[in-house]
Amino acid sequence: MDIFIAALIGLQIGSFLNLLVWRLPRMMERELAQKHAHYSGSPLEEQAAFNLFFPRSHCPSCKATLRVRDLIPVFSYLFLKGKCAHCNTSISFRYPLVEIVVALAWAGCAYKCGLTWQALAWALCVSALIALALIDMDTMYLPDSITLPLMWAGLIASSLGWTLASLVDAMWGAVAGYLSLWLVYQIFLRVTGKEGMGAGDFKLLAVLGAWLGWMALPGIVFFASLAGVLIVIVLRFTQKINAGAPFPFGPSLVLAGLVSLYCGSITDYLGLIF
Ligand SMILES: [Zn+2]
Repeated sequence: MDIFIAALIGLQIGSFLNLLVWRLPRMMERELAQKHAHYSGSPLEEQAAFNLFFPRSHCPSCKATLRVRDLIPVFSYLFLKGKCAHCNTSISFRYPLVEIVVALAWAGCAYKCGLTWQALAWALCVSALIALALIDMDTMYLPDSITLPLMWAGLIASSLGWTLASLVDAMWGAVAGYLSLWLVYQIFLRVTGKEGMGAGDFKLLAVLGAWLGWMALPGIVFFASLAGVLIVIVLRFTQKINAGAPFPFGPSLVLAGLVSLYCGSITDYLGLIF
C-alpha cells in the first residue's frame, strides 16, 4: 500500500518535472536577456509573466490551454493516444516515460524505507536529479538553482541522520565531488586546450557526494565515465551526434548516482552501506 501511494505521488511529481524541465531553461533565458538589456541601457518591453505557475499548461503547438482531464499523468497520454486533443500534434513519448520513471523512483524509496521522512527526502532528491539529467540533455546546462540547494539539502539530510553518510563524510563528499572533476577539467584544458565539461558537472558530483558520502564517489565517477563513453559510441553509430560534438555528462552522473542509491553497488540506500 505504501508503495502504491508513493507511486501515485511520483506520477504527479513526474508530471511537474516535465513542466519544470521545459520552463526552467526558458525562464533562465528570459532573466538573462532582461539583465543584459538592463545593463546595455535599453530595457526590454514588459513581457507577459512566465514562471512555473503561469501561464497555465498548454499545448506547445496550438497553445490551447489543457483541461484537467488532459493533465492526468500517463492516462491522459494513453487516452489521447499521444496526440493533442485540439490540434492532433503528437505529444512526445518522453512525457509519460518521465512520469513512469519518477513513479518507480518514488515507489522504490517507499519500498526501501516505508512512508518516512527519509523516503520523502530521497524521493525529492532523486526527482531533482532526474530533472537535472533531462535539462542537461536538452540544453547542456545544470542550473545552479537546482544543484546548489540540492547540495545543501544533502548536508542537512545527513545531519538529520536521513542518509547513511555521516555529516563529516557528506561534507567531504561535497568538497571531493567538486574538486575532483574541477581537477580533471583543469588538466584536460591544459593538455587539449578544450573544455571537457562544465562547472555544472562539478556541482552535480558535489551533490552526489553530499547525499552519498565521499566513499561513493570513486564508484560513481567510474560508472558515469563508462556510461558516458557507451552512450557516445551508441549515438555516434546511430549518427545522432557528430564526432567531437559537445555531449552532456550530467545524465551519466545522475545514472551512476541512482544506481549506487538503489542497487547499492557502492551504497545500499539506508540499509546496507559499509
Ligand atoms: Zn495542440
